[in-house]
Amino acid sequence: MTPRRIVLLGGGYVSLFAYRALRPAIRSGSVQVTVLSADSHHNFHGFTGEVVAGLLPYRLTRAPLATLMPLADVVHGTVRRVDRPAQTAVVAPADGTPDQLVGYDQLVVGTGGREPLAAIPGLATYGYSLRAPGEFHRFLRRLDDLVRTGGNEPVVIVGGGSAGVELAAAVAGRFRRGRAEMPVMLVHSGAGLLPGSPPRMGAATRRELARLGVLVRLNVRVRRVGESAVELSDGSRVAAAAVLATHGQRPVGIPGLADLVHDERGRLVVDPTFRVADTIWAAGDAARVAHPVTGRPVPANALWAIKAGSHLGRNLRRVIGGRNAGRFRYRGLGQAMAFGVGRSAAELYGVPLSGWAGWLLRLAFFLRFMPLRRQALGVLAALARPAVVRNTASRSAGRRQDLPGDVPTVRLPVTADSWVPAT
Ligand SMILES: Cc1cc2nc3c(=O)[nH]c(=O)nc-3n(C[C@H](O)[C@H](O)[C@H](O)COP(=O)(O)OP(=O)(O)OC[C@H]3O[C@@H](n4cnc5c(N)ncnc54)[C@H](O)[C@@H]3O)c2cc1C
Repeated sequence: MTPRRIVLLGGGYVSLFAYRALRPAIRSGSVQVTVLSADSHHNFHGFTGEVVAGLLPYRLTRAPLATLMPLADVVHGTVRRVDRPAQTAVVAPADGTPDQLVGYDQLVVGTGGREPLAAIPGLATYGYSLRAPGEFHRFLRRLDDLVRTGGNEPVVIVGGGSAGVELAAAVAGRFRRGRAEMPVMLVHSGAGLLPGSPPRMGAATRRELARLGVLVRLNVRVRRVGESAVELSDGSRVAAAAVLATHGQRPVGIPGLADLVHDERGRLVVDPTFRVADTIWAAGDAARVAHPVTGRPVPANALWAIKAGSHLGRNLRRVIGGRNAGRFRYRGLGQAMAFGVGRSAAELYGVPLSGWAGWLLRLAFFLRFMPLRRQALGVLAALARPAVVRNTASRSAGRRQDLPGDVPTVRLPVTADSWVPAT
């Protein structure tokens, strides 16, 4: 029997967990899987805050796709387009060799999203983002430079959702650890942080940000970004040492799929089995997946991408075996954020958790889903050290180490001499 050709676009959670569900079919010879990914590694985003805070080395959150998916052909390159009538994907290999044509019988779109940088003039030129290959590393290098050179211009984080909040706290944590006194400013267009989250989670978050000295600006947008300043929607200009975009994400558009049904945010609309069209499937941040009970779109996060990827992979096995695809019935679990070791704001099945309880729960969940066992052990070892040091120091000093009074007091330069308008 000729194996059915399954092509997975992207090397994130959707592709990895679809691959895992497909392994028995690959081993039996009924399926052949090819992965086309713009990044040669899988990025475990869950611990982004810990990496930014300097608690974990970046390398522990990246794993080579070829190691994670040894039964698949992994092509490191950017998908240029899909030709649906011909059932081929065109990929530009990262090593600069000529474009390759990869044929498929079933195609899975797991290309995730990117920050909508074009929405704010100057952001793509002068700002930082985290999702595109190489961008996260570039931001970490910038933070290291700032710790070395010092200064009192803030790092500006754009967006007060869970990523923005966690990263603002993490940057502040990294500066504290490096004994740098740069402020961190979180700019959010809404009236409150974490839109859509339970109020108690918002309250815990505000306390953590205050403890870390993060300056929060609500009801204001970043209108333009220059080389060393930002312009806000209230007309003020703020000098900025770096600007990080966390104001949402838009799916990566793949030419050749534009005629399929997309929602208002550009996500491919899938049915309850993750099918978009006859031979096209999608999940994760690239797809609009309806919650099985509420019918509302499920959040764009790792948990949903993992569960969806597994289910999608199982459905492909069913379809290839001549059976019907099954409906996705997963209902969700909750959400969690960390603000350093032992500090958290979390919600599990609607029950709010904070401090060590939420932190340990989040840690256990993330470790369980880390793609490599040795990575998970490395994370555990790296995080255990500050936990032990902190508890010992707190006991011997007879007080908590991180009282609000420890936060350096800074005055923000609100007018920027060095404003360079974006073109
Ligand atoms: C900084 C950050 C922190 C986060 N923290 C959390 C958290 O704490 N908890 C949580 O649950 N979720 C978190 N998330 C969200 C979570 O990471 C995403 O929801 C999840 O990664 C979506 O999985 P995915 O497979 O759809 O896409 P991704 O994991 O983003 O994978 C997309 C893949 O597609 C590839 N790709 C893109 N375009 C192309 C192309 N044209 N050709 C080939 N390949 C392409 C990319 O290189 C990547 O390999 C975080 C995200 C970020 C950015």
